[in-house]
Amino acid sequence: MSDTRAMTVGRAHAVRIGLMTGDGIGHEIVPATQQVVSAAVAAAGAAVDWVALPLGRDAIDTHGTPVPDSTLDALDGLDGWILGPHDSASYPAPFQGQLPPGGAIRKRFDLFANIRPARALTGVAATVPGMDLVVVRENTEGLYADRNMFVGSGEFMPTPDVALAVGVVTRRACERIAHAAFTLARSRRKHVTIVHKANVLSMTTGLFRDVCVEVGEQYPDVVVDDEHVDAMAALLVRRGADFDVVVTENMFGDILSDLTAELSGSLGTAPSVNASESKAMAQAAHGAAPDIAGHNRANPTALFLSAAMLLEWLGEKNGDRTLLSAGQRIIRAVEGTIAAGVATADLGGLASTSEFTEMVLARAQRW
Ligand code: ATP
Repeated sequence: MSDTRAMTVGRAHAVRIGLMTGDGIGHEIVPATQQVVSAAVAAAGAAVDWVALPLGRDAIDTHGTPVPDSTLDALDGLDGWILGPHDSASYPAPFQGQLPPGGAIRKRFDLFANIRPARALTGVAATVPGMDLVVVRENTEGLYADRNMFVGSGEFMPTPDVALAVGVVTRRACERIAHAAFTLARSRRKHVTIVHKANVLSMTTGLFRDVCVEVGEQYPDVVVDDEHVDAMAALLVRRGADFDVVVTENMFGDILSDLTAELSGSLGTAPSVNASESKAMAQAAHGAAPDIAGHNRANPTALFLSAAMLLEWLGEKNGDRTLLSAGQRIIRAVEGTIAAGVATADLGGLASTSEFTEMVLARAQRW
C-alpha cells in the first residue's frame, strides 16, 4: 500500500460490488455471501452498493448467452466482483466449447493472479494440521488452451488420433506473478517456493523458474527455494505446514491448489481471488456442485472467505481501513462459527447452509 495514501477510518461510504449468482449451489451460497458481506461492511462503518449482473444459465434464458456484453461492460465500472460457481458443462450445445463465464471475465480483464490460500481451520479435521500457505497461480498462460492464444485454441488435432497442445510462458507474465508472490510473502512469513518442472520442460518452466529467481533478488528479505512439481506434491503431504507462499504456473497451480485445499480441510472451505493490478474477483475454488444444489446443504465458507479476501484487497488498494476491518470480521466470524462446532455436512456437521449463515452473520455483526 502506498505510504502517501491516507487510510480512511469509519467514514460512511459505499463500495460498489458486482454480484453474479452463477449456477447450482450459487443460488444458495451467493445470496448468503451477500448478506454476510453487507453485515460485516455495515458493522465496520461503510456500506455496499450491490449491482446484480446476469451470467451463466440465467443469462442464457434472459440474454441468449451465458456471458452478456452488458455484464462485462458493467463490471468495468465497479470496485470488485463476487462470482458464484458455474456449471458450464451443462449449458446447451451452442454454448459448449466457449470460454466458461469465469474464464471470459478473467480473460477480458487480464486477471493474471489466482491467489488460493490453504489454511487449516480450528474445528476442521485437516490432513495436514498447521498448514497455512498461499498458492499464487499464474492465470493467463501455460498449457491452458483457452488462455494462451490471441485467436483460436492452443490445442490441435491434425488427425483423429493425434492431439497437440501449445504451452506458452512469457517473461512478462512470469515477472508480474513473481512480484505478486514476493509482495505477498513480505506480509507473511517471508518465504517463497517456486514450483516448476525445469528438468523436463526446461525452456518453458525453466524460464518461469529463472524469472522468478531474478525477481526474487529484488526482495532480499524473502527466503527463496524451488521444487519440481512432482516432488512438491509429495512434500505438501509430508510436511505441508512448512510452506508459506508457493508460486507456480497455471496448470501446476490449478492441481496443487486443489491438493492444498483438501489437505488443509476441504474444497468447501477453499477461497480464492483472481486479480490484476486494478481489478479483483472473489471466486470459491469449488464448482457448482449440482449433486447437492437446492438442498440447503452447501458449505458457503469458501465464498465467504473469498469475499473477505476481496474486501481486504480493496482495503489495501484504496487505503481503506473499514474494508480491511470488514474482511477481518468475516474471517473471524467464519473461524469462530466452525470452532464452536457449527458446520455443514461436508465437514461432518449438521448445519444447513442457512443455519450456518445465520451463525456467521450474528458473529460478523457482533465483533
Ligand atoms: P468444477 O469442474 O466446476 O470445479 P466439479 O464437478 O469438479 O466442478 P464441484 O462442483 O466442486 O466439482 O463438486 C465436487 C464435489 O464436492 C461434489 O460432490 C460436491 O457436492 C462437493 N462440493 C463442492 N463444493 C461444495 C460446497 N461448497 N459444499 C459442499 N460440498 C461441495
